[in-house]
Amino acid sequence: MGDFVKPKLVISRCLGFDHCRFNGEIIRNKIVERLSKHVEAITPCPEVDIGLGVPRDAIRLVTSNGKIKLYQPATQKDVTRNMEEYIDKFFSELSQVDGFLLKSRSPSCGTGDVKLYGEDKVSPVSGKSSGFFGAAVQERFASLPIETEGRMLSYSIREHFFTRIFLIAEFRDLYESFSMKQLVDFHSRNKLLYMAYNQKEMRLMGRIVANQEKKTKDQLLHDYGVHFRAAIEKSPRHTSNINVLMHALGYFSYSMSRAEKAFFLDTLERYREGKVPLSVPVSLVKTYAIKHEIDYLLSQRFLEPYPEDLLIISDSGKGRDL
Ligand code: SF4
Repeated sequence: MGDFVKPKLVISRCLGFDHCRFNGEIIRNKIVERLSKHVEAITPCPEVDIGLGVPRDAIRLVTSNGKIKLYQPATQKDVTRNMEEYIDKFFSELSQVDGFLLKSRSPSCGTGDVKLYGEDKVSPVSGKSSGFFGAAVQERFASLPIETEGRMLSYSIREHFFTRIFLIAEFRDLYESFSMKQLVDFHSRNKLLYMAYNQKEMRLMGRIVANQEKKTKDQLLHDYGVHFRAAIEKSPRHTSNINVLMHALGYFSYSMSRAEKAFFLDTLERYREGKVPLSVPVSLVKTYAIKHEIDYLLSQRFLEPYPEDLLIISDSGKGRDL
């Protein structure tokens, strides 16, 4: 535990990196601030990068003849083409990345929660869509973690996002400096995480690592990568996390008093009810694993899937359903 490869993350520039919003503001977000210290950030601001300047008149998504355009009502400028050209260039020059953290509700960066207007200046909101840059990210990087700062207020969404970006970064690093031993280590260190995320994919990855077909490095990593990304795509169910925690309990329950065991089970129950985040029962397991020097548990990413500094317990109040 403890060593992490820095994820390469594309983050909207206005999320703490520059005063580039249309009104010259910057968005101070504690989660992004903390995360920034642990990642290699690539920070585009599509609107500034296409030359709209700061401050600028606001732009919006409008539907016109069944198509969505990017439009600046105050100047009556259609900037769709400029944005599309920028997006193509940006992605053609982008090296391999591990995820995206974008500004919510922006006609450029937003993903699915952006107001869509009719062409007429006074027409009301007619629906929701993704911004141009956000939509391009969703289309081109569907297998990578993509979140907005708004959704990151929920601890369950945050835990899942942090877990994925750090795992994907480690796998990228493994890809670059491959040895069979490293792949076997990677697989065994993530066993409990996989068990929580997706047992079917975990078994398939186990077979790939055994490599009885004597596949080449490229085939092996390709096949493992496909199942790895599928395994961690969706958040684990709470019942699956509880099963893993119960499995871990099996390693040290012999040493626990009746009161300690009752406390552990009560903590699991509070997690099941959504009263505490996963990190609370996980840190209990970690304490027992340290106390009894259980190397197998201590080696597991499940106990520390991302840097401890990112364990922010507070929640938006919308908990798991945000
Ligand atoms: S939302 Fe995107 S385009 Fe808008 S200011 Fe932020 S980075 Fe720039």
